[in-house]
Amino acid sequence: MSSEFRYLPSVDRVLSDGRIKQLEETYPFTLLVNLVRQCLEGARLSIAAGNPCPSLNEIVDSVSAQICALENPSLRPVINATGVLLHTNMGRAPLSKESIVAMNAVAKDYCNLEYDLNRGTRGSRHIHIEPVLCQLTGAEAALVVNNNASAVLLGLTALAKRREVIVSRGQAVEIGGGFRIPDIMRQSGAKLIEVGTTNCTYTADYEQAISPRTAVLMHVHSSNFRLMGFTHEVTLEELVVLSKRNNLLAFDDLGSGCFLDTTTFKLEPEPMVQQSIATGTGLVFFSGDKLVGGPQAGIIVGEKQLVDKLKKHPLARAARIDKIRLAGLIATLIHYLKDEAVIKIPIWRMISTPLEEIDQRARLWAQALSGLAQVTEGETMIGGGSLPGSTLPTRLVTISGESERKDRNMAQTLSRRLQCQEIPVIGRISGNVLLLDPRSVLPEEDEAVLHALWNLAAGWKRS
Ligand SMILES: *Cc1c(COP(=O)(O)O)cnc(C)c1O
Repeated sequence: MSSEFRYLPSVDRVLSDGRIKQLEETYPFTLLVNLVRQCLEGARLSIAAGNPCPSLNEIVDSVSAQICALENPSLRPVINATGVLLHTNMGRAPLSKESIVAMNAVAKDYCNLEYDLNRGTRGSRHIHIEPVLCQLTGAEAALVVNNNASAVLLGLTALAKRREVIVSRGQAVEIGGGFRIPDIMRQSGAKLIEVGTTNCTYTADYEQAISPRTAVLMHVHSSNFRLMGFTHEVTLEELVVLSKRNNLLAFDDLGSGCFLDTTTFKLEPEPMVQQSIATGTGLVFFSGDKLVGGPQAGIIVGEKQLVDKLKKHPLARAARIDKIRLAGLIATLIHYLKDEAVIKIPIWRMISTPLEEIDQRARLWAQALSGLAQVTEGETMIGGGSLPGSTLPTRLVTISGESERKDRNMAQTLSRRLQCQEIPVIGRISGNVLLLDPRSVLPEEDEAVLHALWNLAAGWKRS
C-alpha cells in the first residue's frame, strides 16, 4: 500500500477545519459530512492511481467547490446566437411575455386546474385548452400531453395495439434525441408495416399492405431531412381517402405543427394543422415548442370519438401536462386566435424580422468587437424538425480575430470565451471563424450581447 495514504486526514480532522466550521453556519452538518466523505474517497482513488496525497487545504477547497457547484444551478439562461431558431439543445422556443405571465400566475397560487367553478365539483384539465385548439384548427376535440413523442405513443397504444400500422418507408424516420418511428411503434405494441421504397411510395403500396389486422394508415412529417431527385410520396389527401374506403384510421404526425402559412415569410410551405384537419385526418399530432412557439407539450387534435378514447387511456395520465405549461400554452394559442402571433410569439418575431433590421443590429454587434469582426451575408435555419432545407436570409457577425494572431483553434478559443460570460453567448463555428446570428436573438437581449462582446474584445486586446 502506498505510504501516501497515511497522510490522508480523517473525516473529523477535515470537519474541524476553520473554513468547514464556517460553512456549518450556512449548510446542514449532514451535507458537509457527505461532501467531506466523497472528497476523501476521491482522494483515495487519486492516490491509488499514483498521485500524491492532497493537502488538507486542497481537500477543504474541493469541499467548498462542491457546495458552490450544488447551490448554483447548472441550468441557466443563454443567448442563442447560433442562427438555429428552434434549437433542441437550447430549450427550443422562447416564450411570449403573456405566456410567462400566465405561467407565473398559476405557479404562484392555487388554480382551478381540475375544479369546475360553476358547479363546485371536480373538473377536467383538458377543458381549459380544448375550445381554443378546436377553434384554431377546426377539429372536434383536442388533448394536450407532455410532449409529441408521448402524444404519438398514446395514440398508437390506445388505438393500434396488437394491430398493424402502415407507414411509407420514406417516413419511418428518426427525429433525433432517440425518437424513431419504428421504436415508438414497438413500444406501443403496434406492428409497423413499412411500404414502398426509400424514395418512392405509391397508393398501391398501401393498398397491397392492408389486411384484416390493419388499424391505421400513418403519415409522418420527415422533419429533419428532405429527399431530392426521383421521389414520390402519397399525399395526406390520398391517404385519408384510402383509409376511409377501407374503414381504417388516418394519423398525421406533423412534428412541428404550424398554424401560419410559412410561404408568406418566403419559406417553403410547412403543413398546417388546420389543413390536416380539413383533409379529414382522424388524429393529428404535433409539438407545443416547435413552430407553435409555446412550452414543451404534445398536442393531439381530431375526431371526438378518437380523442375521447385517448383521454380515458392510462397512458394519458402517465404523460399528462402540468398546470404551468398548460397555462403557458393556452396564452400562446390565444396569440393565434387574436391574430397577433407574428408580433407576440418570439419565434415568429424572429422569422418575420426584416433583413434591414438584422443588418443594423449585426453592425452594432460588430462595432462592439472593434476590428475583430465583419458583417457578412448568411442564412438562418428554422430547426426543430421543421422546414428542412429552407432558410431565411440574415447577416452574420463573423469573428476571426486579428490576422497576425491566427491560430488553428482561434474560433474555439473565441467561442469558449463568449460562453464564459455572465450570460453565455453561443455562436456557431464554421471553418476557423466564429459566427453570431442576430436573427435568433431578440432585440431585448442585445444589451447583454453587447456587454459580452465588449468583454471579449477587451480581454482579447489584453491577452
Ligand atoms: C419533433 C418530432 C417529434 C417529437 O416531438 P417532441 O415534442 O420533441 O416529443 C415527433 N415526430 C416528429 C415528426 C417530430 O418532428
